[in-house]
Amino acid sequence: MSDGRSRERAGADILRVCRRLYDRGLIAGPDGNVSVRLRDGTILVTPAGLSKVDVRDEDLVIVNLEGNPQTQGLAPSSELLMHLRIYQRRPDAMAVVHAHPPVATGFAVAGEDFVAPVLPEVILQMGGVPLLPYATPGTPALADSFEPFLDRHDAFLLANHGATTLGPTLDIANQRMESLEHAARIVFTARMLGKVNELSASYAEALRLSRED
Ligand SMILES: [Zn+2]
Repeated sequence: MSDGRSRERAGADILRVCRRLYDRGLIAGPDGNVSVRLRDGTILVTPAGLSKVDVRDEDLVIVNLEGNPQTQGLAPSSELLMHLRIYQRRPDAMAVVHAHPPVATGFAVAGEDFVAPVLPEVILQMGGVPLLPYATPGTPALADSFEPFLDRHDAFLLANHGATTLGPTLDIANQRMESLEHAARIVFTARMLGKVNELSASYAEALRLSRED
């Protein structure tokens, strides 16, 4: 587990990841939110409302684990409760990314998860991606919807909404978001071709074991 980032490095990391999410089309408009756990245990998070690609370092907000702002200025992300729940329940989580990746979210709109063993990198990087039941964005119910899945998963599809990933660093949380969307494109293509071959149980188990090493 990492010890958390300095404020300065975390700010630079968040701005870079916001730019990547936007450039890859994983967010649009004011979508998405990104946070990092700092060395002192507080959370640096994107502000509410702004297009994430326009966020400047001075717009970022620091909150404590209870969600109380430690900085003056803009309000924190409307999805702050989701970020806090993840940090509270997963001491190993040092960063959280929430986005609306269009193909992966299409699966979430269709009521599908990403648990079937189809692509090795999904199992290796995320261990399967569950579909969380729909809850109104920004409400405690959305944070509650993570509860049954938080112990065993690092990536989540949110029904009729989007996706959330966590990681020991922001780069890894962001890689998981990119990989989830990439995997969704591949599975969608396989469906268009008419067949999705799942990995055998023994191959899937070998991947799960190597992830736990
Ligand atoms: Zn969202």
